[in-house]
Amino acid sequence: MKRISHYINGQIAAGASGESGPVFDPASGCQTADVDFASPAEVDTAVAAAAAAFESWRTTSLSRRSEVLFRIRHLLAEGRRELAATITAEHGKVLSDALGEVDRGIESIEFACGIPHLLKGEYSEQASSGVDVYSMRQPLGVVAGITPFNFPAMVPMWMFANAIACGNTFILKPSEKDPSASLMIAEILTRAGVPAGVFNVVQGNREAVERILAHPGVAAISFVGSTPIARHVYETGTRYGKRAQALGGAKNHMVVLPDADLDASADAAVSAGYGSAGERCMAISVVVAVGVIGDRLVEAISSRLSGIRVGPGTDPDSQMGPLVTREHRERVASYLDLGKQEGATLVADGRDLAPRAEGFFLGPSLLDHVQPEMTVYRDEIFGPVLSVVRVATYDDAVRLVNANPYGNGVALFTRDGGAARRFQSEVNVGMVGINVPIPVPVSYYSFGGWKDSLFGDSHIYGPEGIHFYTRAKVVSSRWPDPATSSVDLGFPRTR
Ligand code: NAD
Repeated sequence: MKRISHYINGQIAAGASGESGPVFDPASGCQTADVDFASPAEVDTAVAAAAAAFESWRTTSLSRRSEVLFRIRHLLAEGRRELAATITAEHGKVLSDALGEVDRGIESIEFACGIPHLLKGEYSEQASSGVDVYSMRQPLGVVAGITPFNFPAMVPMWMFANAIACGNTFILKPSEKDPSASLMIAEILTRAGVPAGVFNVVQGNREAVERILAHPGVAAISFVGSTPIARHVYETGTRYGKRAQALGGAKNHMVVLPDADLDASADAAVSAGYGSAGERCMAISVVVAVGVIGDRLVEAISSRLSGIRVGPGTDPDSQMGPLVTREHRERVASYLDLGKQEGATLVADGRDLAPRAEGFFLGPSLLDHVQPEMTVYRDEIFGPVLSVVRVATYDDAVRLVNANPYGNGVALFTRDGGAARRFQSEVNVGMVGINVPIPVPVSYYSFGGWKDSLFGDSHIYGPEGIHFYTRAKVVSSRWPDPATSSVDLGFPRTR
């Protein structure tokens, strides 16, 4: 059985804890590897390597760091197919989707290539007589990233690109469900000239995370995953005095107004609801049909479902792959009966639409007449299950979205510019799409939800990422002018 280990101080480090977990090919249902789980002592080794690398990395010139990032970008682009194939093999998503993930991740590297510009400080000449004041942003030290299974390459890139560009050294704790992409990335970074210890990977589960949270040598934690763990990571990390940003789960609504283009809305709902088998934190999971459009919209969505080709991610004809694990597939499928019991209408049952194969397949499923108090509405299902909630008015739709505890993404479909303008102002959600179903911001903006979708002040990547991974220092300087020197015991004045 293949063994997937850690990457510490510029090389693969075989696990020594004796603990490991299985990794599956979700399309066949077969176990393909064992991944080592780091003990607290192994986490400590990685943090020590990162701490040792910090002094020389933080003093490496900006132009040199930028050059290394350009090389990372080049090597990732060159190896994108191999990386995507690795993602498909362990996550299950179709190859074209995995390529899309890698490409969006590379955009975060491209943003970080501009680090000399991004770290420019401010300067005020003659803030007081003979005194100049200027600011700079400096790295924090060793920072850690804990990432989910659904984007095993892109989410780490959201974090480490800015973190190392700013001069920090990095510990990545990837998901134990699809850990191989992290090692491929580590090797690319080493080939690109990232010095040993600047980027480390510790594989593992809860135990490794707890040690990262408690380790006094880790200055900041970035987390992306489900809401209960995000809350725990944020609360524990900050209790230990660390800077923390923890992105959680989602329940993303797509509001369709009666004037919207019916076919474009149905295409968007299907693409955003079932792409990557619904295992995206920005997937649409609730369609909010406003007024008279309800029946026609449900019909238009359901007529598209039988045409979706579900199959192994490696098959170029497949549009939707399997779910990540058997347990997750069973959990997602259980919501279909639950929805019916709660009074929703099961318009399409993915158990009928899935290939009869050993893998963790579930076809696209559609629940209509879902009510806000139902479990299928309240829970994040994280699979190919789309719920339709029908409301009478635009105001009802906004009230529904704003009452939801999550606030990651939302979309509005309409032809009415005035309604769109009101919506973007009134909706309590961090990322809004106007006729755009999956509004993941480009890398020079920042990504982040509101409410239970994000714990902490900083969104991830983009300008807020630079802010998160640095701290500000302000220098007030006076160069002696012997002609004006005198003793003054008063508080420094500027006027
Ligand atoms: P998860 O919360 O189960 O795991 C995330 C990470 O936390 C993994 O590295 C895992 O090993 C670790 N972990 C799991 N249980 C833990 C525990 N008890 N204590 C400490 N660490 C623990 O999430 P997942 O299933 O890998 O990913 C899917 C979830 O991530 C969904 O809820 C999805 O919405 C969310 N997500 C959010 C975003 C976002 O940007 N907001 C992006 C991607 C995924």
